[in-house]
Amino acid sequence: MNLILLGPPGAGKGTQAKRLEEKFSIAQLSTGDMLRAEVSSGSELGKEAKQLMDAGQLVPDSLVIGIISSRIDDEDCKNGFILDGFPRTEAQAEALDEMLASKSLKLDSVIQLAVDEEALVGRVTGRYTCAECGNGYHDEFQKPEVEGVCDNCGSKEFKRRADDNEDTVRTRLKAYHDQTAPIIPYYEAKGLMGRVDGMADIEDVTKQLEKILEAA
Ligand code: ADP
Ligand code: ADP
Ligand code: ZN
Repeated sequence: MNLILLGPPGAGKGTQAKRLEEKFSIAQLSTGDMLRAEVSSGSELGKEAKQLMDAGQLVPDSLVIGIISSRIDDEDCKNGFILDGFPRTEAQAEALDEMLASKSLKLDSVIQLAVDEEALVGRVTGRYTCAECGNGYHDEFQKPEVEGVCDNCGSKEFKRRADDNEDTVRTRLKAYHDQTAPIIPYYEAKGLMGRVDGMADIEDVTKQLEKILEAA
């Protein structure tokens, strides 16, 4: 099963992709995570990406298209994949279609996480992850069971993204409206578009997604 989770920053794409990854044994492919790994490695590609990411702007299409194209060939994608944060422009959506056709793969579903815009700044500025295993948390909505200790691996080290501040979130939201939202009609026209209520509790959103995917 190959799917796309679509939604603005903070909609819950990463949170839900991780849950679906386990339930359906498919791989989460987050271009944001891949780009952050490039930035940490100090590669040329990472250096190019960092400035744009810190400013809340999209990195060039060619860069993410190349990353995704080689990642989809990996063994853990054999069962399928969840694209989280890709495609983000019409050019990326078209490149994805070509890429999948050339690999004899197809998309099963594109699911939009519908959220209230006012909730997003709070979601993003309260977000943090385990520095060890990457498990996601939120200051208010998703606290670890024991304060300061990762539920998944027991680590006591957490980190926050440099771009998860109010100013940058607003720029990222604008990029979503200007550049990403236009891909919704692209997938609607193909009859692939589904939608869930992303304002529901995390567990409830997962249930809505499972219902769609089990019927797909
Ligand atoms: P995205 O990948 O779409 O940017 P995340 O999955 O990282 O979003 O979620 C952003 C923040 O909001 C995280 O801190 C996460 O714990 C929290 N969150 C995710 N889904 C929900 C939800 N349904 N209700 C409340 N908080 C949520
Ligand atoms: P969020 O889910 O909170 O919007 P991501 O982790 O998906 O954040 O993306 C963080 C940043 O990485 C984006 O603001 C952008 O600079 C860059 N990025 C990630 N995916 C893409 C993409 N498909 N195209 C262009 N830029 C991307
Ligand atoms: Zn952890």
